[in-house]
Amino acid sequence: MDAAQQLIATAGPILGAKGVITEPAEIAPWLSDWRGRVHGASPAILAPASTDEVAAIVRLAAQHRVPLVPQGGNTGMAAGATPPPDGSAILLSLRRMHRIRSIDAAGRIAVAEAGVVLETLHHAANEIGMRFPLTLGARGSCTIGGLTSTNAGGTQVLKFGTMRALIAGVEAVLPDGSIHSGLSGLKKDNRGYSLDQLLIGAEGTLGVVTAVALRLVPAVASRAVAWTGVASPADALALLRFLEHRTTSVEGFELVPRDSLELVLRHIPGTRAPLDDAQPWHVLIEATTVDPAADIAAELQRCLADALGQKLIADAVIAANEAQAEAFWRIRDSISEAERVDGQTLAHDISVPVADMPRFMTEAAREVERAFPGVIASGFGHLGDGNIHFHVRAADHAAPDWYEREGAAITRMVDNLVTAAGGSISAEHGIGQLKREEFARLAPPGRIHALLAIKHALDPLGIMNPGKLVP
Ligand SMILES: Cc1cc2nc3c(=O)[nH]c(=O)nc-3n(C[C@H](O)[C@H](O)[C@H](O)COP(=O)(O)OP(=O)(O)OC[C@H]3O[C@@H](n4cnc5c(N)ncnc54)[C@H](O)[C@@H]3O)c2cc1C
Repeated sequence: MDAAQQLIATAGPILGAKGVITEPAEIAPWLSDWRGRVHGASPAILAPASTDEVAAIVRLAAQHRVPLVPQGGNTGMAAGATPPPDGSAILLSLRRMHRIRSIDAAGRIAVAEAGVVLETLHHAANEIGMRFPLTLGARGSCTIGGLTSTNAGGTQVLKFGTMRALIAGVEAVLPDGSIHSGLSGLKKDNRGYSLDQLLIGAEGTLGVVTAVALRLVPAVASRAVAWTGVASPADALALLRFLEHRTTSVEGFELVPRDSLELVLRHIPGTRAPLDDAQPWHVLIEATTVDPAADIAAELQRCLADALGQKLIADAVIAANEAQAEAFWRIRDSISEAERVDGQTLAHDISVPVADMPRFMTEAAREVERAFPGVIASGFGHLGDGNIHFHVRAADHAAPDWYEREGAAITRMVDNLVTAAGGSISAEHGIGQLKREEFARLAPPGRIHALLAIKHALDPLGIMNPGKLVP
């Protein structure tokens, strides 16, 4: 019996039948990344139901020197939750830990276990008149543990920040099997290095997140959602700045190029273009208020009429009701899915300083399209955060192996341009497996040195998610 089999056998009595999955057909759906590009192998999925069970499994893994790959909803975009292909590691699913331990409107904190699905937390917060304000397209399946471990962003970062800003504390099992309990929810705690902050964005390489204390805000009383047509990313950013001088209500501001809209209309059933005339670029705007007496739609309409008068936008429509608002958001949230169906898209989740993003997008697209004739380069997403998903799509006649043949060269070019602009090659999706080489190539040596020192100090046996993030 090899070490992995010994671990699986000893895990059985600790986790019970529900917590040990060895049937290949049940394991298979969890062995590939969301885009279906990276494939791994694992002899089992271990699925603990409590923090103590996680700690017991981590201790066993250390004892047997068997690596663990933590996994939540497996919606990550960097293949961080995909095990290595040689079957040497075991998947550790947190999905059975799906309890909201407490939720408190007065304290404005929810303590959710790692396997709680984001949408479940949204509903729970709403029931007590509160809101967890981070959201993204995968909210129906991504988990609190995954969101924490990737320091996820999403569409409301403009106002509320990334997970890092919304986490009041983390409970985790460290690689030696000890439990770090940081769930006190203290607003102020300056006892030196923050282990909580180290674990946020660690992609499972420093321990297993088991529960998280999350900050809540008052529930929205009403929202207004608009779809506008603009001439360029520069006009889109000018529109955001224009709105910011007139209202504090804007919390979502998402850029959508015509190319992405057309892809969604082609591949996602039931979607339709919000504006009659084709526009080169669009911005989806969400404005919200917590004041039941406020007329947020009228406020946004006034602002957009002014913007139209100043020729900042070419056209705009405000959703007439919630169903229409959801339909607008569905377009934005379906872009990644439409690209997945389409197949030949190379994704780059990048950031540069916000003010420089319009120039970067235009010049980078031009350079990539010139260097790789026939491809379409474009960006969509969180313009106001200086974060764009800069995607390069194959030409219509491209060979089926375009991604394998051209992908690395295109990515190197994009990453070089991003680095030259003082940006980051991973704005919100993490490094995982997909960006590890590029991270090692482009990150400043001091950053890599510190990262390695932290990794080796906390996980000297290298049992936590090997082959991810750490060069
Ligand atoms: C349609 C779509 C839209 C998306 N939009 C956005 C977006 O706007 N912004 C954004 O930031 N991301 C976005 N994502 C990416 C993804 O949803 C996030 O990265 C999310 O945080 C992943 O959560 P998960 O539970 O699926 O994690 P997984 O994919 O299972 O894991 C992600 C990483 O976290 C680690 N991990 C998971 N759980 C734990 C744990 N309990 N302890 C330690 N490590 C753990 C894994 O090992 C892996 O490295 C999108 C994905 C999809 C499919």
